[in-house]
Amino acid sequence: MLQYQIIPVTHYQQNCTLLWCDQTREAAVVDPGGDVARILAEVERLQLKLTQILLTHGHLDHVGGTAALVQLRQLPVIGPHQDDMFWIGMLSQQAQMMGFAPVANFTPDRFLHEGDKVMVGQAELEVFHCPGHTPGHVVFFCREAGLAQVGDVLFQGSVGRSDFPRGNHQQLVDSIRTKLFPLGDAVKFIPGHGPMSSFGQERRTNPFVADKHYG
Ligand SMILES: [Zn+2]
Ligand SMILES: [Zn+2]
Repeated sequence: MLQYQIIPVTHYQQNCTLLWCDQTREAAVVDPGGDVARILAEVERLQLKLTQILLTHGHLDHVGGTAALVQLRQLPVIGPHQDDMFWIGMLSQQAQMMGFAPVANFTPDRFLHEGDKVMVGQAELEVFHCPGHTPGHVVFFCREAGLAQVGDVLFQGSVGRSDFPRGNHQQLVDSIRTKLFPLGDAVKFIPGHGPMSSFGQERRTNPFVADKHYG
């Protein structure tokens, strides 16, 4: 069964997450935005075998530690969707905008698409392409564990910003309501920032995507 540990990183308190299979102890790090030493210390403490880097989207607070991790551990970089390459290609501008130290560039080894599957040990993650916050944003969903890693698509009580280049609020809302909510009210999700929630709770109370706003 899939297990998880959230590690908030960078001054944006981005929810970098370790996902691992408790049978094999093979692990993926999702969105290593920075603070690579802290991430690796947690891998050590949990006695995990880190095998891959998964990325939800190309924003620096989610990918800033990727090049450093690749250099240290030679891990494959999987995701996001190729439509986020324009963000990944602008890492140095993003660092300037967000007040980050400059970071090295990287190229994903595998882009992800709607319907793809990613294995973490024996646990399967399904991939959903959920544009709107960024055009190439993907969400990882483990059906067996009832757990989704949604990046900056959806938050407890809010949704991702869509005022960036190639952002689109309607597309974001459609992604959430037509792809994520049908996975079930009981599904718990880890957002890119802030506390966890469930799709059911957001359907009831989220001012941007609750059912009552969409007859
Ligand atoms: Zn973002
Ligand atoms: Zn973010």
